[in-house]
Amino acid sequence: MTWNNDWGDGLFQMGWTNPNPFLFSEFEFEPDEPGEQIDKVIEGPLMPLRDMVFYPRMVSPLIIGRDRSIEAVEVALEQDEPLIAVAQRDPGVDDVGPEDLYTLGADLIIGRMLHMPDGSVSILAQGGRRAQILEYLQLEPYIRVRALSIAEPTARTRQTEALARAVLALFEKAVQLNRSLPEDLYIFAMNIRDPGWLADLVAQTLTLETAQRQEVLEVLDPTARLQHISVLLAKELDVLELEDKIHSAVQQELDRNQREYFLREQMKAIQTELGETDSFTQEVSELREKIAQVGLPEEALKQAEREIERMAAMPSLAPEVGVIRTYLDWMVSLPWQKQTEDNLELAHVEKVLESRHYGLPKAKERILEYIAVKKLAPDKMRSPILCFVGPPGTGKTSLGKSIAEALGRNFVRVSLGGVRDEAEIRGHRRTYIGAMPGRVIQTMRRAESINPVFMLDEVDKLGSDFRGDPSAALLEVLDPEQNAAFSDHYMEVAYDLSKVFFITTANILDPIPPALQDRMEVIEFPSYTEEEKLEIAHRFLIPRQVEEHGLEKHPPHFSTDVLKRMIREYTYEAGVRNLEREIASICRKAARRLAEHKKPLKRIKEPMLPRFLGPPHYLHNKLEQEDVVGTVMGLAWTEGGGDLMATEVVLMPGKGNLTLTGQLGDVMQESAQAALSYARSRSDDLGLEDDFFDKVDIHIHLPEGAIRKDGPSGGITMATALISALTNAPVRRDVSMTGEITLRGRVLAIGGLKEKLLAAHRAGIKTVIVPKENEPDLVEVPRKVLRDLNVVQVSHMDEVLNTALLPPLEEEEGEEGDEGHVSNTTVPAE
Ligand code: ADP
Repeated sequence: MTWNNDWGDGLFQMGWTNPNPFLFSEFEFEPDEPGEQIDKVIEGPLMPLRDMVFYPRMVSPLIIGRDRSIEAVEVALEQDEPLIAVAQRDPGVDDVGPEDLYTLGADLIIGRMLHMPDGSVSILAQGGRRAQILEYLQLEPYIRVRALSIAEPTARTRQTEALARAVLALFEKAVQLNRSLPEDLYIFAMNIRDPGWLADLVAQTLTLETAQRQEVLEVLDPTARLQHISVLLAKELDVLELEDKIHSAVQQELDRNQREYFLREQMKAIQTELGETDSFTQEVSELREKIAQVGLPEEALKQAEREIERMAAMPSLAPEVGVIRTYLDWMVSLPWQKQTEDNLELAHVEKVLESRHYGLPKAKERILEYIAVKKLAPDKMRSPILCFVGPPGTGKTSLGKSIAEALGRNFVRVSLGGVRDEAEIRGHRRTYIGAMPGRVIQTMRRAESINPVFMLDEVDKLGSDFRGDPSAALLEVLDPEQNAAFSDHYMEVAYDLSKVFFITTANILDPIPPALQDRMEVIEFPSYTEEEKLEIAHRFLIPRQVEEHGLEKHPPHFSTDVLKRMIREYTYEAGVRNLEREIASICRKAARRLAEHKKPLKRIKEPMLPRFLGPPHYLHNKLEQEDVVGTVMGLAWTEGGGDLMATEVVLMPGKGNLTLTGQLGDVMQESAQAALSYARSRSDDLGLEDDFFDKVDIHIHLPEGAIRKDGPSGGITMATALISALTNAPVRRDVSMTGEITLRGRVLAIGGLKEKLLAAHRAGIKTVIVPKENEPDLVEVPRKVLRDLNVVQVSHMDEVLNTALLPPLEEEEGEEGDEGHVSNTTVPAE
């Protein structure tokens, strides 16, 4: 016997091909008569099922290919016998014997039978009851058995009722979730009264192995079967729920993608209709063109091409596109090749510099030298890195600009004041949201050429903290060995800074880290003397302001006396910035008169100044009006240049305490202690009693208390004020001084002498006491200043006291101390 049907006997396993297999249209299932609720022995042909289990009362079409099975069906139909269907243990076996079959199956009633063209037959069958095989009667030409048709109790106990409900509840969900089950299946199940049948029906709908199905069949007790089914159903439900979740997630994603795709296609269609090309594609091709044109070095070109490919492959609305677009914008807008031609005509450069700036010989000379060398050895010459140091308004920035103009280079400027983060100089990596290149690269974009004059302002105000040290990044920028391949974190590719002419500016040199100072050539911009200021005003500031205010036809005349008064009473500065502002202010008034058709201002006269500029700002001279006890004018060196700084001392009855006020730094406080110790060690010479210091409290104060002060150079000033107060000897009001003091009274050198002398000169001081050790610095001081000042060089405190103190005042019993001076009346001076 051969079997040649690939389908096997048990195809259409679940029978869902039948539109509604559970509604018995053709077969009417007749429930057992009450009297028939007993087991019966039956006899009939057996049909092996390859991979299905036929449950009682199930209706299903079957296709039968094996000869013995066809024979069995035919016999059953002819003799009106039940066909007993039993599942095979191994679906692969064709020629089955008793050992290949389970022993429990079901008896079937056959409805119609159709012969198919390939020789197989198709039947529609309905299960009857469970049938337990008792005996094989024959195996050929078909298998014939005797079996026990098992009756099933249909009564519902409370337990079966509860179980049935639980199973139904689960089943309802399963039907909802399982898309391959017809919806009315649940209604059908709900109407089944017979618990065993309900269990069988549910079992059919579950996804189970044949062995598992057989297991269900073999649970004869309906209650136990329901229980068994409820476990299987719960498991199935779990899987179904998971499947459902996955399915809906996938569906959502699909829906979104489809929607976007659809919209984009629509947009394209609309754009084509309107004759516009897709803007994204256009943008990509424009960027491509730019990348090819800007002359990127090899490494940068590769990087840019990689990025543009990445961008082109993305949908235009992807968030990453924006990031890449910004990056490529930076790439193509930076100057990579573009260079301006240097004008190396010495005469021309000199002329430009002279025509804009008075004085500043060192800076001008250095530029001319650079040009000379560059002319002789154009390729070898590295750009110098200059550092202009000086108080505000002394022409640092404007000279930088003039250098750029003289050389024919572009000029850019960036301020480093308050930069604390390395990333501000070197940029953030692109992985950060909103990352940008650092200030150097940003400024280079503005420069529009690779060889600008690049001014880095306020290098002395760089900070450093946990965010990294910006000066380290700056070192790389300013190091000729490294800056040909400067790496910005954002750009990722090396950028060439070697052709840039760097100029840094600072107010004072001290705070600049030594490593950075090393890289630069320091050029000092000293404060201007009054004469220099007058010169600058006449030659540069006034003509410029006149021109800027459109007063060329009726230029107001500023006499020297007027300017002097402006310098002395309206500005108090090292540079000329405020002076220029005041001149501008007068020019505005003159312009307004012209515009109002009033008589033009021809000469500015001294009495007009308060009307134009308001009351003098600095009329109240810093100097005391008379010689007083306990107050000395010291000289300080600040960011704004040199300055006068008073030191006041008062004595009070007390217990020998020292109070220091006026925001003094550590060094200055120690310096005050040293001054006091010196004074105490000299108490004999000063005519003070042994226990004098135990009976007074001393208070040293430096006015302008809101400004921090530090440094050792106030040493002799504090000692002088102290001794003046102790001995009741007034201090000459036109004397000022600077110098560090040792405990033995030696006077040591200090910094910023030139600025301090210029400040003293500005303030109208006559005599200045300076340390002898500072003598070499006097060379730098303008001659005019030295001529006007009486500079007393000292090496010991005695000389200071001799110069500064007047003879002690006679003690008057019960005298009230005047302002600024509390005499030591409580303690006898003798
Ligand atoms: P800084 O950068 O040192 O603070 P600026 O360069 O801004 O000072 O100078 C302030 C103003 O003073 C500018 O208008 C500048 O032209 C003018 N100025 C300063 N020094 C000179 C000088 N030596 N000759 C001509 N003008 C000067």
